[in-house]
Amino acid sequence: MADLQNGVLVICHLAPGGRFNSNVLVRENQHTYQKNNLDAGGFRCSKSKNGSPARLLALEDGTYFMTTGHDGHDNKEDHLKYCTVKQRMLERARDTRQRSRMIFEKFATCVAYRNMNPEVPIAYDANLERAMQRARRSAQPPVPQTIDEADASLIASELYNKTADGTSNFYHGRVSTPAGTALGFISVVMLPLLRTSEEIACDGTFATLPLLFSQLFTLHVSAYRYTKSLYQLILDRILHVLRTVPGEGVGIIGMVSD
Ligand SMILES: [Zn+2]
Repeated sequence: MADLQNGVLVICHLAPGGRFNSNVLVRENQHTYQKNNLDAGGFRCSKSKNGSPARLLALEDGTYFMTTGHDGHDNKEDHLKYCTVKQRMLERARDTRQRSRMIFEKFATCVAYRNMNPEVPIAYDANLERAMQRARRSAQPPVPQTIDEADASLIASELYNKTADGTSNFYHGRVSTPAGTALGFISVVMLPLLRTSEEIACDGTFATLPLLFSQLFTLHVSAYRYTKSLYQLILDRILHVLRTVPGEGVGIIGMVSD
């Protein structure tokens, strides 16, 4: 894989680099080059930090001129395949809600993909997990600083306003009193079960599910400045959403609360 030519015209293309959304310039012999920031239009060998002297210059016609040749180190063929697989995984992390581990396992067990890239050594480790988390974060809105910002970003993003399977609304708007505001998250998949249960026992702090109880619902209420009127508004919102869910009637015979 030695690449010792100086002063020749070469053909290159861009390929996925090691970082998300990054690219490297690849020669037809699978050596790779990065932009040389000190030199307009110039590229340096990806191994330049290890002492490789190779340099390319981008020409106006789209070809590249090899100003300095290599010292004969191995090319990056395997690494390029690794980067291609990794980039696909990071894209999936960004664009879906699948867990990082699941994304990796799907790629690792995909026969067609393994046949295409039989030599790609790829393992699920802390670095890959972090890279997937970063990719996921890149598509997320900034952390809201106010209730207005939180409300706007919840409305704008299906990632947050839909349930995990993406089939129904999870965010159901906010309710406000002069004293405070609450954001309402309600799973409409759970509501019919709640409505048709005959007995419901409620407590503020069930740390564990007591004996004789077969089902446990949790209502997560997080309100800024708790007041009775705000709680009333939250419960009204839940009832309002419940009325939009298919099915009729309430099956509750007994409800115990404190
Ligand atoms: Zn080199």
